[in-house]
Amino acid sequence: MLGLDMGLTHLAIDSSGTKEPNPRFLKKASANLRRKQKAVSRCKKGSKRRAKARLKLAKAHQRLANARADFQHKLSRQLIDENQAVIVETLKVKNMLKNKKLSKHIADASWSGVIEKLEYKAKAQGKHLIKIDQWLASSKTCSCCGHKLEELSLKVREWQCPACSVRHDRDIDAALNIKAQGILKLKAAGLSVSANGGKRKTSHALAAA
Ligand SMILES: [Zn+2]
Repeated sequence: MLGLDMGLTHLAIDSSGTKEPNPRFLKKASANLRRKQKAVSRCKKGSKRRAKARLKLAKAHQRLANARADFQHKLSRQLIDENQAVIVETLKVKNMLKNKKLSKHIADASWSGVIEKLEYKAKAQGKHLIKIDQWLASSKTCSCCGHKLEELSLKVREWQCPACSVRHDRDIDAALNIKAQGILKLKAAGLSVSANGGKRKTSHALAAA
C-alpha cells in the first residue's frame, strides 16, 4: 500500500519517503514555444511561410505532450508494478487548480494525467487505485498521533508535532496520512489489507526522508 502526495517541487512524494522530482516540461519548453509562436505571427496570413512556421509550432507542442505522457507512463507503471494499492488525494488537486498563481505550474505538473494512468494500469493488473476525495488535512495532521495543526504555511517544509514531538517532513507526513485514509476506505469496502506492507514503521520520521 502506497500513499501518494502530489506536489510541485516534487511531483510525487510517497509514504515510504521517495520523492519524484517534478520534470517541469512546460517550463523547459516555454522559450522554444514562444519563439515558434512569434515566428508564426510574423508571417503573413495565408502565406506558405506561415504554414511552415505553424507546422513547426505544432510539432514542438506535440513533442512536449509526448515527453509528458512518456514520463507519466513510466512513473505510473513503476508505482503500480511495485504496489498492491496506490492511494491519492483528488480534492486537493481540484482545490489547488483554483489558485491562479499556481494553476499554470499545476497544469504543467499534470497530476490528473498521472492519476488517470495510475487508474487504468491498476485496473489492468487487478490492483487498486484509491482516490481520497473528501477533505483531508493531510499536510497539517500528525501521522503519528493524529494531532491537527490550526495552520501550516506552504513555506514550512518540516515541522514538529506539539503533541507527540515527532518531527515531520511535510510531504511525507501528508503521504502517510493519505495512506492511512486509503486503508480505512479499503477496509470499509470490505477488502483486507496489511497496513504496513513490510514498510518500516518509522518511515514517517524525518531521519528516514
Ligand atoms: Zn503527533
